[in-house]
Amino acid sequence: MWLNIDSFEEYKDVYKESVENPEEFWEHEAGTFYWRKRWEETHSGSFKNGDVKWFEGGKLNITENCLDRHLNTIGNKTAFIFEPNHPDSFRRTITYRQLHEDVCRFANVLESKGIEKGDRVAIYMAMTPELMIAALACARIGAVHSIVFAGFSAQSLAERIQDCDAKMLITNDGLRRGEKHVPLKDISDEALEDCPSVKKVIVCQRTNRDIDWVEGRDEWWHLLIRNAPKEHEAVEMDAEDPLFILYTSGSTGKPKGQVHTCGGYMVYTSYTFRNVFQVEEEDVYWCTADAGWITGHSYILYGPLLNGASSIIFEGTPTYPDAGRLWEVCEKYGVTHFYTSPTAIRALMKEDIEYVNKYDLSSLKVLGSVGEPINEEAWHWYHDKIGNGQCPIVDTWWQTETGGIMISPLAGVTPTKPGFATLPLPGIQPALVDKNGKEIDGNGVQGNLVIKYPWPGMTRGIWGNEERYKETYFADYPGYYFTGDGCRRDEDGYYRITGRVDDVLNVSGHRLGTAEIENAIDEHPKVIEAAIVGYPHDVKGEGIFAFMTCDNGVSEPEDFKKEIHDLVSKIISPIAKPDKIQIVDGLPKTRSGKIMRRILRNVAAGETDDMGDTSTLLDPSVVDEIIAGKAY
Ligand code: ATP
Ligand code: MG
Repeated sequence: MWLNIDSFEEYKDVYKESVENPEEFWEHEAGTFYWRKRWEETHSGSFKNGDVKWFEGGKLNITENCLDRHLNTIGNKTAFIFEPNHPDSFRRTITYRQLHEDVCRFANVLESKGIEKGDRVAIYMAMTPELMIAALACARIGAVHSIVFAGFSAQSLAERIQDCDAKMLITNDGLRRGEKHVPLKDISDEALEDCPSVKKVIVCQRTNRDIDWVEGRDEWWHLLIRNAPKEHEAVEMDAEDPLFILYTSGSTGKPKGQVHTCGGYMVYTSYTFRNVFQVEEEDVYWCTADAGWITGHSYILYGPLLNGASSIIFEGTPTYPDAGRLWEVCEKYGVTHFYTSPTAIRALMKEDIEYVNKYDLSSLKVLGSVGEPINEEAWHWYHDKIGNGQCPIVDTWWQTETGGIMISPLAGVTPTKPGFATLPLPGIQPALVDKNGKEIDGNGVQGNLVIKYPWPGMTRGIWGNEERYKETYFADYPGYYFTGDGCRRDEDGYYRITGRVDDVLNVSGHRLGTAEIENAIDEHPKVIEAAIVGYPHDVKGEGIFAFMTCDNGVSEPEDFKKEIHDLVSKIISPIAKPDKIQIVDGLPKTRSGKIMRRILRNVAAGETDDMGDTSTLLDPSVVDEIIAGKAY
């Protein structure tokens, strides 16, 4: 039987057990999958040496667990519902049986094009079922997929292809996102000028626009698939063989190519999906993330399929054709589980509430949040307006590196608290440490968030850079995995992520966390969201610059600044008062919801000539608007 925790008492018991006997705990979990050969060693290696392994010697293929295993029981159940960019375009549903066939066909195609176990394949595609099929087909033949978000520039795509020496690129002719058209094939052609490793390009038709064609290199998806056999014997993989490479969102530096493995990642994503969301047989689950981020990998692709869930693949954006789109889709398919980012919530809560009220959202049972801390205002809006006060919110803290959710309520099981990711999942042992790496015991404390014991879903490396892997995660606090995040544990032992620990300013010798100041400013009723950066200041060393979005704008900025000063002085200290404030229409956010602080730092410092690569921004035009704006 699969472990399914369904009461808070049970959670506490299971948690205790998982800490006392971690190997047994994970053996039990892993035992629920189909292995061609059982593993020999459940767990080996350590954080200290940066060489953690799980289920070594076990043989499996993750797609047999996502697909083949379900054929006799739920073969005719819907695996994916495809909702296109425009609500009137062709939509379709795909059953587990059809998906299995499509994946087998494309696996045969990949093999016929010379792709072998261990080869890297880059995927740069629209959010369509074919993207999922491409990734699963790679997994089926043991090729390592590297999905690159389809909003990235040619340069970003090229860097990622070069970093892993991909042999093939799979793309679309183009895609539409909202009103925008993105010429994926043109961008790919440009990127490939600098990528000699890529010998083949497979192009899947989506927009039917004119594209250039390189004879001998480019081939059409639909022609290749036509004659490919619909049977395919999955390639046997070792549990520790790489399944995919995925680059972190890069909000703090050069993206890191995280390597996830076949066995541990499978066990972990499946386990977390089932217990956090508590999805049942008839439910319709929808995660609005893009497949180019880890959330898309773990909670659109692998987690739901491993559990036999029905889920939605959404090609569009929350505001197209209008700001009611997400709710329209929820009503249309009777969505029960809805998982999105605080950024999306904040954007939609600025819109007329009629966009929400127009739709029947009574099918909703569970709401999820991921990607950044969710501020209380957004939490309440989500809870009250979308969930009608009835749906638990699972605020899920995790990272590309962790493979799956680490700290989160279990839906309907863990009592929630706005702004808190609450408690660790069974099997996960978080701790807070001080600057010297000393563990901070007790409750009502704050520190750097580390993990004390390895878990199956963790990253096994940064592709091609073992040094950086050890340096980034295991060097600062030997014996722990360091998350890079700051965290508070309140009186009830609940965890609240406060932001990155490296987002720290040094103002007149005082170290101030940007997140702390932002939280204080967020308390002002007019403020929707604030972002703090430092800038060079003659006297203080670093000055404090506050960018913020406000409800209905601000008519008297000088008075408003005074209110902000009073608030920050009261909540933190007069030292933390912003030297400058600027009201903006939007903050520069990545598509995964992260504020790109380096852009704000440039603006604050008055260095706006070279803003670097802004292609990962949700809306690059906000940059010009911010540069043109006025600070007080
Ligand atoms: P890079 O590591 O390249 O800077 P990134 O950290 O933005 O990129 P991700 O792995 O996508 O890339 O993001 C993980 C980070 O997102 C976490 O370390 C944390 O800071 C933040 N985060 C994710 N979920 C939550 C959450 N529920 N609450 C608070 N913060 C969250
Ligand atoms: Mg990170």
